[in-house]
Amino acid sequence: IRIRGKYPYELGELAETLNYMAKEIVRSNQIKDDFISSISHELRTPLTGIKGWSETLTIGGFDPEETRLGIGIISKETDRLIGLVEEMLDFSKLQQNEMKLVISRVNLKELLQETMLNVWAKAEQKGIQIKLEDETEQPVTVMGDGNRLKQVFLNLVDNAIKFSHENSWIHLVVSLKEDNRVLVQVVDSGIGISEEHLNKVKDRFFQVNHQGGGTGLGLAITQQLVELHHGDIDLQSELGVGTTVLVELPLAEPEEQTGEEDLAST
Ligand code: ADP
Repeated sequence: IRIRGKYPYELGELAETLNYMAKEIVRSNQIKDDFISSISHELRTPLTGIKGWSETLTIGGFDPEETRLGIGIISKETDRLIGLVEEMLDFSKLQQNEMKLVISRVNLKELLQETMLNVWAKAEQKGIQIKLEDETEQPVTVMGDGNRLKQVFLNLVDNAIKFSHENSWIHLVVSLKEDNRVLVQVVDSGIGISEEHLNKVKDRFFQVNHQGGGTGLGLAITQQLVELHHGDIDLQSELGVGTTVLVELPLAEPEEQTGEEDLAST
């Protein structure tokens, strides 16, 4: 839109706003197109494995060991598909503001221990040691949805394992910050991210842009879940040195003594 001549200042401003909106629509359509193309690619890969193995097994004539191998691959690829579909559903719920959190008091250190147990086997396979470094020396409670917070840390630790070298380490560092906040750092000594790629990843993760391989949904979902919990997330990385993801969350108010407890103690 171009406005010529002597028009009130507001009209020029309106034209500028409309131009900006038009550009945003083009940009967001481009993001959607990129997203559909990367998600289709991610869905296609496990489907190809499932189709290939089920057709092969239908022919028959394999010994039990080969049959088990084929069925094992079908099952693993199906899990991958389920994971992808769940990610897409979560992402869509978050985009539409429809993610419902079930809020309760969550013991954060216990949740991190559970997260470590969940990924233990995966880390063990690569000889990676995961350690919780507690700098707080006190219970750390946050108000939040335990399952969703677990999803946040599982995703971060899972990435850390994925991008770490064999026989390396991952540290989960918990410390207290000002303004009643807790900081959890997921530190790895893995392949790291180059400055250029870090900007792209942050772009993807902050603006949900999907370029290159993968769906890029993992960090985008993680970021939005942290923000739903009134927290902040940041990513720092150096190529060849490692990556640290910083998650800051508000601490829960101290629990008030209930009447029942008062009665019980008298
Ligand atoms: P995807 O689900 O496609 O892997 P994520 O959103 O989880 O997407 O991560 C986006 C990208 O960020 C990854 O493909 C990878 O390039 C980079 N990344 C994330 N975590 C790490 C890490 N700990 N070390 C190195 N690179 C990482």
